[in-house]
Amino acid sequence: MLGTAVRHHADAIGHVLGLLSFARPRFRDGCFLYVSDAGLAHWVLTRRGFGAITFGHVIVSTAEPSPAIWRHELRHVRQYERLGLAFLPVYLRLLRHHGYWGHPLEREAEERLSVTGID
Ligand SMILES: [Zn+2]
Repeated sequence: MLGTAVRHHADAIGHVLGLLSFARPRFRDGCFLYVSDAGLAHWVLTRRGFGAITFGHVIVSTAEPSPAIWRHELRHVRQYERLGLAFLPVYLRLLRHHGYWGHPLEREAEERLSVTGID
């Protein structure tokens, strides 16, 4: 089953984060899910007040994701698929201009609106 996963260049970042959080991945909805609040995840997520982060098709969450959080992260997965190599630079540039709460990709992940016009 694992061989059927679509790959994204950012997946490796997520796997490194997951493995350095001492978690083993599970395969769910075409994605890899690491659940851990230890190691690197604790530093990257918990200390900054975030519950989960997505890199490509890899989702790292500090706790078992609620259905709403899972849907939110899956929308980020779709954004990675749509933006490809541009996702991380675009995300970081928008973060600088809009902050987290006004971030267009975060708002889209919440509201399911296409605000980037890229589809
Ligand atoms: Zn988000």
